Amino acid sequence: MKLDSKVPGGPVSEKWTNHKFEMKLVNPANKRKFKIIVVGTGLAGGAAAASLAELGYDVHNFCFQDSPRRAHSIAAQGGINAAKNYQGDGDSIYRLFYDTVKGGDFRSREANVHRLAEVSVDIIDQCVAQGVPFAREYGGQLANRSFGGAQVSRTFYARGQTGQQLLLGAYSALSRQVGLGKVKMHTRSEMLDLVLVKGVARGIVTRCLKTGNISSHSADAVILATGGYGNVFYLSTNAMGSNVTAAYRAYKKGAGFANPCYTQIHPTCIPVSGDHQSKLTLMSESLRNDGRVWVPKSQNEKRKPVDIPEEERDYYLERKYPSFGNLVPRDIASRSAKEACDHGNGVGDSGLGVYLDFGHAIKRDGKNTISQKYGNLFQMYEKITGEDPYTTPMRIFPAVHYTMGGLWVDYNLMSTIPGLHVLGEANFSDHGANRLGASALMQGLADGYFVIPYTIGNFFASTALEPVSTDQQEFKDAVSLVTERVKTLMNINGKRSADSFHKELGHIMWDKCGMARNREGLEAAIQKIPEIKQEFWENLRIPGSGDRLNPELEKAGRVADFLEFGELMCRDALQREESCGGHFREEHQTAEGEATRNDEDFAHAAVWEFKGETAVPERHKEELSFENVKLVTRSYK
Ligand SMILES: Cc1cc2nc3c(=O)[nH]c(=O)nc-3n(C[C@H](O)[C@H](O)[C@H](O)COP(=O)(O)OP(=O)(O)OC[C@H]3O[C@@H](n4cnc5c(N)ncnc54)[C@H](O)[C@@H]3O)c2cc1C
Repeated sequence: MKLDSKVPGGPVSEKWTNHKFEMKLVNPANKRKFKIIVVGTGLAGGAAAASLAELGYDVHNFCFQDSPRRAHSIAAQGGINAAKNYQGDGDSIYRLFYDTVKGGDFRSREANVHRLAEVSVDIIDQCVAQGVPFAREYGGQLANRSFGGAQVSRTFYARGQTGQQLLLGAYSALSRQVGLGKVKMHTRSEMLDLVLVKGVARGIVTRCLKTGNISSHSADAVILATGGYGNVFYLSTNAMGSNVTAAYRAYKKGAGFANPCYTQIHPTCIPVSGDHQSKLTLMSESLRNDGRVWVPKSQNEKRKPVDIPEEERDYYLERKYPSFGNLVPRDIASRSAKEACDHGNGVGDSGLGVYLDFGHAIKRDGKNTISQKYGNLFQMYEKITGEDPYTTPMRIFPAVHYTMGGLWVDYNLMSTIPGLHVLGEANFSDHGANRLGASALMQGLADGYFVIPYTIGNFFASTALEPVSTDQQEFKDAVSLVTERVKTLMNINGKRSADSFHKELGHIMWDKCGMARNREGLEAAIQKIPEIKQEFWENLRIPGSGDRLNPELEKAGRVADFLEFGELMCRDALQREESCGGHFREEHQTAEGEATRNDEDFAHAAVWEFKGETAVPERHKEELSFENVKLVTRSYK
């Protein structure tokens, strides 16, 4: 596998500008001759499909939901970063670039991150023009708040519903193109394989989730914007449908998978309440602007939080990290919460919780102000827990939230398979080993609105593509394989549900490949997961049939891929002998429990190549060079 990042030469601040000029263009009249498949209608896919159609390409857009508007992006709460410096508090494109590289613990590609910071300012203008109702100051200026890992306020937001409002913006742009006949929407269609013709991505195979019909679609290029794989852990804050299938099938067809072990554990989620749960709920990071995190100083404390006096509380983030306080990055806040709970200072019945307290903020700013900022989040918390966060501190605990790993892409967002482009959370590119809050929306929209519209033109203009049709053998073979796999799943007729296997896998992943990892645990997981996989293929039970709506069949297909992918994550975590960002290897830490990076041996992206069903995948490296940001030990003290 050849990993050519295709990063342009020149100073980092001029790379993208020069590249845009140097890339070849497709003349407007010729654009309509190119057909592009976009899988995904979240912020990355929706933005790409709308923009490419606006440029004149013939776009076919797929999602498994009943409407593009239901993509997981709609759940995003807290905000989107941009280096507008409206606050005049010292922000700049360079500072956003620097914060993002540092926040990712120096495991991302500098050139991509700088481009992200550059286009961040355009995203806000584009979204405002679409009518996205960002919060405003009294004078009409767009408002900002702070997020973790930054000492400036650069997060634009629409209360706690930023993702929803941004997606409505992208959806209206998309709907316009659907109305004009430039985008053909395929809802309730799940991509189950990628089709290659002469080594180039030329189509996909889908299953219609309403009729069970399996069909193929051809194109001149394929874009995957299929989101993250956090649900491999079973419990996560992701939408229940989020899965790895599209990316994993592309991996099996030859696309390199980068850094699969990089998972983000978000520090502020509602704690698990029992074994019955199938989903966890995020409490946005924006709450750490005003909420203060603490645990009782004494262990096994049974008093109510309001009865614990100030001097008996440990505001541990403010104590350990005085310059960033409650706004340290997520990986650090999560590990500190775990550490407090491991020491017996956790709260709630399980002891797996810490307080997020708004008492001081309410006293300082008044209930009304706090309610205007976070009202919908407080209401959500109260509905789920039955406790009123205006009068008693929230109880929170870390949970799986986002995945920084993904299909490897070059600077043009193309994977190792020519013609296959990957956008948004599905690719690996910009966040290194830890994503800063409010940067996922920024990246998805940057990829969709501002990067792929340029780079895909360059691909078409510089590649000789032969005509293809779904009558070709490659498409027929791919359809037969998918049909066979569905039949096999339906015919197992065993005793266990897909969910029960998923839960079993999730427990192992959380225990052995979660917030803290070690060699012994990872080796045990690599041993155990194939055993679960074997039982899955012998003892799975799917009620109903494959030729109609069957959510159990959908789930089973996704769990089958998670079972293989989970093993790949553990292999990646085992090989990375260092702690960096969200990847914390217990063997590599300081006496104070801080992560110890190993730049000499691991300043690279690890890219995995599929070598066959029974073979161990091969690990390749993309060395990362840091010419603008100095590699230092990350400190938020
Ligand atoms: C609760 C929550 C809150 C968040 N808040 C923020 C925030 O405030 N700020 C921020 O920056 N980030 C936030 N994030 C992260 C952010 O929401 C996501 O990273 C981002 O929305 C991902 O967008 P995407 O377009 O890449 O993928 P998604 O929105 O996940 O969309 C994936 C699309 O792919 C389609 N798809 C997937 N697989 C297939 C398949 N096999 N066949 C057909 N279609 C398929 C789906 O139907 C969907 O349309 C939050 C995440 C969560 C879970």
